[in-house]
Parts: sequence; structure tokens; C-alpha cells
Amino acid sequence: MKLFLSTGNKGKVAELIPLLREFFPEFKEIIPRAPLQAEETAETFVGNAQIKSEALAQELIAESEPFPFAVLSDDSGLEVAALNGQPGVHSARYSGEHSNSEENIKKLLCEMALIRNRGCRYVCCLYLHIQASESQSHCFHSEGYCVGLIMQEAMGEGGFGYDPIFWSSELNKRMSEASLSEKNQCSHRRQAFEKLALIYSA
Ligand code: IMP
Repeated sequence: MKLFLSTGNKGKVAELIPLLREFFPEFKEIIPRAPLQAEETAETFVGNAQIKSEALAQELIAESEPFPFAVLSDDSGLEVAALNGQPGVHSARYSGEHSNSEENIKKLLCEMALIRNRGCRYVCCLYLHIQASESQSHCFHSEGYCVGLIMQEAMGEGGFGYDPIFWSSELNKRMSEASLSEKNQCSHRRQAFEKLALIYSA
């Protein structure tokens, strides 16, 4: 079965493809493709992941993509304990609608300037939509976490998003200093994949 990866985020695609190959070898063909219209209006990770998967599934049906096909989406973000879980589902747009990672990090470091509790976690929700026929579909979803600390300044070239300020408690280094395979050994995405593979095969 073909699997469409509903995202335009290159950092996510780089991490998702090796995890997909490891946990779902049955999906032989993986095609990254951002949906044309998928406004992330939900206040939960699972709600936004569902919006992204279903938007792309509807586009594919409209284009007469042969059945069955699968669509996988990832909605993820950073939750900071001292900020009551912010930026959370707003992580990608924390400093404004068209903000980039540098601006988001700058805003977060400002908010955290006087805060001593630096505890945080990455959250990843995966949503797998299987379109069996025009009228029949099934969905499976899971959530994974990765615990860490917010550093005082950005450093390192690897990863994406908040990785330059995320200290991984498991790796004992910043995520931006980890290789792709090191990050994929302990990430919120890996944990979500482990759970999704169990749910899917049950
Ligand atoms: P989404 O496309 O709405 O799921 O946005 C997720 C946002 O959360 C990204 O743009 C990043 O800012 C942040 N994020 C999610 N996962 C990671 C990660 O593994 N490293 C760093 N930032 C992440």
C-alpha cells in the first residue's frame, strides 16, 4: 500500500522516513506531500493531526488515487512546565503566524528569562488514516513524549525547530548536537511509532 506523509516540514520528513521503514515495512512507497488546505484550528495535538490526515485523504480521493492508500500525519510541539504547557499546539507559530524557528526560540528564551524551572517535553501525535475504498476508512493514533530542559541559549546545527535549546535528559546533550539516528532512538516520534505499531497490528 502507498503511504502519503501529510507534511511540508523537511525536518519532520527526515525523521519520519527511517521510523516508518523500521516500524511499518509494509508501506513500500512513502510519498511526502503537504495538504493544500489544512488549517490547524484544534486545541489538541490529536485534533490537528486528524485535520492534516483527513485533508490530504480528501484531496487524494478527489484526484482518484487508487484504493487502498494510507495517510500519516504528525502533529507535535514543545510543552514547557513553567508556562503551563505553552507553546504546545502553537509551537510552530509561537511568535506569530509566519514565524520561523529562530523567532520562536527568541520569544521562548525571553519568556523563560527569570524562570528557574526549565522542565519541558516534546509531544508527538501520529495519526494514520487508511482509506480502504471511497466510503470506508479506518484511523489509528498514538502519542509519544521526550523529556528535557530548556537551555539559556541556542547552540548546535542539527535537528530543527526548538532542538538548539532542548537538552535531552536521555542523550545528555542538546537535540541539535545529536545525530539523526541518536535523536530517533529516544524521540517523542519514536515513542509514538512504537505505540502506533502495536495498535495497528492488534
Ligand atoms: P506542527 O507542524 O504544527 O506539528 O508543528 C510542530 C512544531 O513543533 C515544529 O514547527 C517545531 O517548532 C516544534 N517541534 C516538533 N517536534 C520537534 C522536534 O523534534 N524538534 C524541535 N522542534 C519540534
